[in-house]
Amino acid sequence: MLASPRVGAESPKDECGLFGVWAPGEDVARLIYFGLFAQQHRGQESAGMAVSDGEHLLVYKELGLVSQVFNEATLTTLQGDLGIGHNRYSTTGSTTWENAQPAFKTDGIRSLALGHNGNLVNTLELAERAARAGGATTDSDLVATLLARFGDGGLEAAALDVLPTLEGAFSFVMMNERSVFAARDPFGLRPLSIGRLTNGYVVASETCALDIVGAVFVRDVEPGELVRIDDRGLQSTRFAESPRQALCIFEYVYLARADSRLRGRTVYEVRRDLGRRLAIEAPADGDLVIPVPDTGHSAAQGFAEVSGIPYGEGLMKNRYVGRTFIQPSQTLRERGVKLKLNPIPEAIAGKRLVVIDDSIVRGTTTRQLVQALREAGAAEVHTRITCPPIRWPCFYGIDMSSRSELIASDLAVEEIRRYVGADSLGYLSLEGMVAATGQDGGEFCRACFDGEYPIPIPEYAGKFLLENPAKS
Ligand code: SF4
Repeated sequence: MLASPRVGAESPKDECGLFGVWAPGEDVARLIYFGLFAQQHRGQESAGMAVSDGEHLLVYKELGLVSQVFNEATLTTLQGDLGIGHNRYSTTGSTTWENAQPAFKTDGIRSLALGHNGNLVNTLELAERAARAGGATTDSDLVATLLARFGDGGLEAAALDVLPTLEGAFSFVMMNERSVFAARDPFGLRPLSIGRLTNGYVVASETCALDIVGAVFVRDVEPGELVRIDDRGLQSTRFAESPRQALCIFEYVYLARADSRLRGRTVYEVRRDLGRRLAIEAPADGDLVIPVPDTGHSAAQGFAEVSGIPYGEGLMKNRYVGRTFIQPSQTLRERGVKLKLNPIPEAIAGKRLVVIDDSIVRGTTTRQLVQALREAGAAEVHTRITCPPIRWPCFYGIDMSSRSELIASDLAVEEIRRYVGADSLGYLSLEGMVAATGQDGGEFCRACFDGEYPIPIPEYAGKFLLENPAKS
């Protein structure tokens, strides 16, 4: 299996995965399929793609995993030389077919398709200014509506007109009948990379998707850059200056796949270093270091390396049950951990465990996990988290949008420890997390940890804003 969906004990929900390709003569639908398959972990509620043969744009999307949405028959009908694809986890709007992407708009002559990763924060202003929100139920659909006003310059001119008016986090892949476009917000909150094929280009949220289709990494799409790819080659236009770089640091901690590279560093390397630093900052007396699969693996190895405590498997992930991501609700989230993470009594009985996980959001599933480990015979459970406490909501595309959902927003570490029932609880510091990336801390968004939002957040922002402002 190529995809690697992660289920931590207390992981926040993922965002979205993007893929775009321009490669005449290739089976682009199949390239998009595998590009999405490699990025399944970024969104598991719906999948879709749009392709064009140069004249007509076809869109196919459905709720479900990539492997459930597409089959040989559908891929065979999606013939073309260029296309885009999208995996969705809803950070705005509900999980419905209408909200699945790519969004598609046409005026009967010209068409466009758009995939979005991120979350806009000035959605109401955009809707009011355009007076076109009408049926738009997501910020992505609103952008597609604004772009579809086209004008004489077509999609490229429309993009250069609309993109500077957007505030928030966005990486976009877009297309019309002849060109693929990629754009990234001026802060570069969400990743987007360009790769080269022998006869074309691809763009993807993560470099693991470039690897899988045999593309060679060229560079990242720059913050504030619009890239056009077509038979004129790859052309870059800047639509906005970048005030500062603010890549989401959580991409390294949890979101991205371990074999992806962000700013030249493999996520695996960074996670391993998170574990090494955690062992120094929050040491534990234990007999066995175990990861919470899958993101905990690299960090647990780093923790074991520095602490000298043996590393082992203590939790088995069931890869074959339905994923909670398909229909996020508190009930499913709470059941999810039991369905997916099962302790191995023979590996852990009588042992003092050091359990390495990527984050604690609500605390409810960490609590269940600690209890399950004890029931399976663990003598002690020492929980170690590879990032600082998450105290602030994310408005940029990760589904932690209210402070009341976050256990660390009003509980101290010792209170959280008591709630989850661990014998000890330790977090990595903000400084330790940044140091593990090997980069300047000022070049990241770290808002969910320190409350310093690189882009100001309006009071009304929320997930269901366009559907029902009262729910936001
Ligand atoms: S608030 Fe946290 S999760 Fe959201 S973009 Fe910033 S670092 Fe990433």
